[in-house]
Amino acid sequence: IYGKTFNVSAFKGNDEEVFIIFDDISLAKELVEIKRELVENISHELKTPLSNIKGYIETLEEELKRIGKKFKRIDEIIIFLDPVKRNTDRLIRIINDLLILSEVEYGVKFEEEKIDFKKILNGILKMYEKTLKDKKLFCELNISDELPEFYADPYRIEQMLFNLVDNAVKYTDKGGIKIRIEPYKQHSERKPNAIRIIVEDTGIGIPREHIPRIFERFYVVDKSRSRQSGGTGLGLSIVKHIVLMYNGKINVESKVGIGTRFEIVLPVKKQDKIKPKEIKI
Ligand code: ADP
Repeated sequence: IYGKTFNVSAFKGNDEEVFIIFDDISLAKELVEIKRELVENISHELKTPLSNIKGYIETLEEELKRIGKKFKRIDEIIIFLDPVKRNTDRLIRIINDLLILSEVEYGVKFEEEKIDFKKILNGILKMYEKTLKDKKLFCELNISDELPEFYADPYRIEQMLFNLVDNAVKYTDKGGIKIRIEPYKQHSERKPNAIRIIVEDTGIGIPREHIPRIFERFYVVDKSRSRQSGGTGLGLSIVKHIVLMYNGKINVESKVGIGTRFEIVLPVKKQDKIKPKEIKI
């Protein structure tokens, strides 16, 4: 058993009995680690040449435009660069999302601090100011002042909220989006012991038969729409794993042509249940 990793849990039996369970998770852990390393290595290796290609495309485009006046048909030739640019950006986005997914699947947190939801959401909405205006969408933000303190990695919480807001804006053409963050009572506690986040839109909605699959990686309902708006099909898998990382729950309700509502509940305090401890021998 030397070098193996076990999940060890204990529980009380009858009378004076105590049961201790050693669950050998070495192989599962090793496989997860191999997969994570592989994804991270490949992603890092792909990122550098792609950023390089992107740089050269931009320079080439600028140079062509500069000399364009002297040559006829140059504008027609420049157009060929558009799909190259679009696809390079898409590849970079997929690689970034794959890296994030690989980290959150593995539960990688960088820091733990008190989350300032107002600051995070104001930052996110600032990025969408122009798109919301161009699409003539309203945006309602309602963050309670009574939120219980919630400690987490702000970077992960931002990624989670960003992906939900990004989808809401992407898949809505009329009406708008509403974001609400409020205290929540879980398990009939007297005081709020969780935070409820609701991101709602009046967009295209998700057909019922697709709902169970939208959290799967690379799953997209409408390939052309998702691609056109820059989707990778990884956003909701990232959201799901961040929610799981904080022992939360996510729920989605959607009606085609009416809109979609994502609800996340994140418990604020540590769970009472003692989790099995992981030990390496
Ligand atoms: P994508 O990058 O394609 O948006 P996601 O993992 O974020 O991938 O979402 C998976 C699919 O779920 C999307 O392709 C889209 O069809 C659907 N979806 C997600 N959010 C919404 C929403 N707010 N409204 C309508 N459809 C949505």
